[in-house]
Amino acid sequence: MIIVMSSKATPENLEELTGVLKERGYDAHLSKGVETTIVGAVGALPSAEEKAAFMEQLETLPYVDRVVPVAKPYKLVNKQFHPEPTVIDVRGVRIGDPAKVIVMAGPCTVETPEQLHASAQAVKAAGAHILRGGAFKPSTSPYSFHGHGEAALKMLAESREEFGIPIITEVMDVRDVELVCKYADILQIGTRNMANFTLLKEVGDAKVPVMLKRGMAALYEEYLQAAEYIASRGNYEIMLCERGVRTFETYTRNTFDINAIPAWKELSHLPVIADPSHATGKASLVAPVTKAAVAAGADGVIIEVHPYPSRALKDGAQSLEPEAFARLVRELEPVAQSVGRTIR
Ligand code: PEP
Ligand code: MN
Repeated sequence: MIIVMSSKATPENLEELTGVLKERGYDAHLSKGVETTIVGAVGALPSAEEKAAFMEQLETLPYVDRVVPVAKPYKLVNKQFHPEPTVIDVRGVRIGDPAKVIVMAGPCTVETPEQLHASAQAVKAAGAHILRGGAFKPSTSPYSFHGHGEAALKMLAESREEFGIPIITEVMDVRDVELVCKYADILQIGTRNMANFTLLKEVGDAKVPVMLKRGMAALYEEYLQAAEYIASRGNYEIMLCERGVRTFETYTRNTFDINAIPAWKELSHLPVIADPSHATGKASLVAPVTKAAVAAGADGVIIEVHPYPSRALKDGAQSLEPEAFARLVRELEPVAQSVGRTIR
């Protein structure tokens, strides 16, 4: 349930309410809007009757305006809990700002210092806000390259210093969360780990912004509950990411679900990022799908860029050359403007 506080409620009232909720086994999560403060109460009383009685009791409190049940299984990532869009500030880059579109770009995998340096230089010069690069790589085959681990994290941190650009990188294992947090500005949870609930809880405890990719066959409701795992631990800095889903089509690597973008904006307050690289698997399709995502209301995009895609260790076929990426960013600006936003 959510409890909308009266405009006259004081911090002492909030404390009292938290105590009342705790006594009945509820966790209290706070959402402070410009005009209203909302308390998300997460827990469960054994029967519907008890819950209804408790809600009624809460509504009689003088500092409570109203109590509203949340029917959906995801509560804290639900728009009801936080009616305004969540904006995540990553070293001054505001992700989810209704006036901005954020561009994240870089190689699928950090390969060598030279490759990362060239990538970072190119994407920064083209106008990207965040540098991506995999240090721990999920792979369908146990025999393919799995990333350079901490050595790659160090290279990413060096590029951040040199180019003044925050970094996003994937964490795959609970045992690596602490290490990756030492370097990353945003933790990426990959599609194969969307339902790794132990990992979700761990990054929820980490209190570092997280970009959670949708599982390749996940329903919206399953996906939003995965995000809820992170939020339920008190980490509300979560970005959603549509990276394409499995369908019967084989021409493209996956199928980009354009519906997801406005649908998630309708259901949730979290920023929505589009990943046209993994959604299409083809460099030639990345630019048009990126534009479609921005037109549909995406708060950001994440794009794979490699200085020499044909030599990439991973995902070369979907990686843009620096020049094509720079062109895309230029062409994206009028698309962003057509929906009242800017990339700059
Ligand atoms: C990636 O971002 O390189 C990646 C492995 O993505 P996904 O988890 O969407 O496959
Ligand atoms: Mn990739």
